[in-house]
Amino acid sequence: MAAGRSFRAPKGTRDLLVPESTRARRLVEVFADLAERSGFGLVVTPMFEELDVFLRLGEATDVVTKEMYTFETKGGDRLALRPELTASLVRAFVQHNPPTPWKAWCAGFNFRYERPQKGRYRQFEQVDVELIGTADPQADVEVVALGWRFYEALGLRRVALKLNDLGDRADRPRYLDALRAHFAGNLDALSEQSRLTLEKNPLRVLDSKRPEDADLVAAAPVIGDYVSDESAAAFVEVQVGLRALDVPFTVTPRLVRGLDYYTRTTFEFAGVGLGASQDAVGGGGRYDGLVEDLGGPATPGIGFGLGVDRTLLACDEEGVFPAPAPAVDVFVVDVVDGSHATVLCDELRRSGLGADRAYEGRSMKAQMKKAGASGAPLAVIVGPDEDADGTVAVRDLRTAEQSTVARGDVVESIRKLLS
Ligand code: AMP
Repeated sequence: MAAGRSFRAPKGTRDLLVPESTRARRLVEVFADLAERSGFGLVVTPMFEELDVFLRLGEATDVVTKEMYTFETKGGDRLALRPELTASLVRAFVQHNPPTPWKAWCAGFNFRYERPQKGRYRQFEQVDVELIGTADPQADVEVVALGWRFYEALGLRRVALKLNDLGDRADRPRYLDALRAHFAGNLDALSEQSRLTLEKNPLRVLDSKRPEDADLVAAAPVIGDYVSDESAAAFVEVQVGLRALDVPFTVTPRLVRGLDYYTRTTFEFAGVGLGASQDAVGGGGRYDGLVEDLGGPATPGIGFGLGVDRTLLACDEEGVFPAPAPAVDVFVVDVVDGSHATVLCDELRRSGLGADRAYEGRSMKAQMKKAGASGAPLAVIVGPDEDADGTVAVRDLRTAEQSTVARGDVVESIRKLLS
């Protein structure tokens, strides 16, 4: 085999090493805690699905048409790596037919073949909740507020919540007609890309970030003027509910979001300190037709996906939720033969403490250096004298105080020092 060539993580992907990896995991833990205290249960679905699951999300959705990682298995099945989590969870809902309302949360990687840049990757993690089986606007309030409380729990203070009412599916054709008429009257002023999008789904044109489209998009009719009275009333209830919880928001009439399935309440969380094109730290909304699209009975639902990577960038920006210093409690220094360290580490770990050690019979000096670098507050030291006496030295690395402890009392004395 040819040797020598080395490899890097594929374009648009990143390796997360300590402490950033631990930080991302902690973030998911904060979310899990909040979601579970709100009655959402963890659901784990495969990272790939039948391609058709995602194709049902709509042919004007870039995430589906342009960015999906699709492949054929050896058995001839056409599959896709998931580009988002909602479709998989709704597929699981239809498959398992659980009692409603079904409150599910999950965390996991998604895959989109996008042009990579800071905050935009080809593999990225999201945390997500879905509340399926009720159209109650109070459920919308709960879900939106959960996202808000999550950012709050991380310490983020500069997150802006944008909220819109996209109306029901039945409201959509009238609005689409109005949009078509608006853009069709000014086709020359529209970018070529948006002209193509216009044919497939005029709503998507509102998402255009192309400067040449900006004026036309700004002058476009707003969906709020085309929604049913019922949807409008529900939207009022959502706003009242959020105000009662002191969750601040801005109604943003042109917020349509990148996925076709949204109806009624639709929202986005923006990191105020992030660059405008990459400022969405999370978003979601109602998808009252999606369960049916995926073969289930007509069932309303609402949920969101929050980007882990981008949320952490927002945390960097605000200097909150720092990476935890991963440290064990004790570093065991063994200058006898290394086997004492093995036994002591095992004992300490079995008693619930964190312990680490060095290898390869390094010198006392080298091992003490490792101990210092490990961040452990305490060191347990075994040299020839301690070995002969059946003792160990316990050193507080914070104060440099050291004492000799009987071998059998190590765990207890460590516990005392840590408390
Ligand atoms: P979406 O599923 O497109 O509604 O996105 C929800 C959230 O996921 C966004 O607000 C971002 O925080 C995050 N996200 C989406 N796409 C990417 C990506 N390519 N890289 C990193 N984060 C992403």
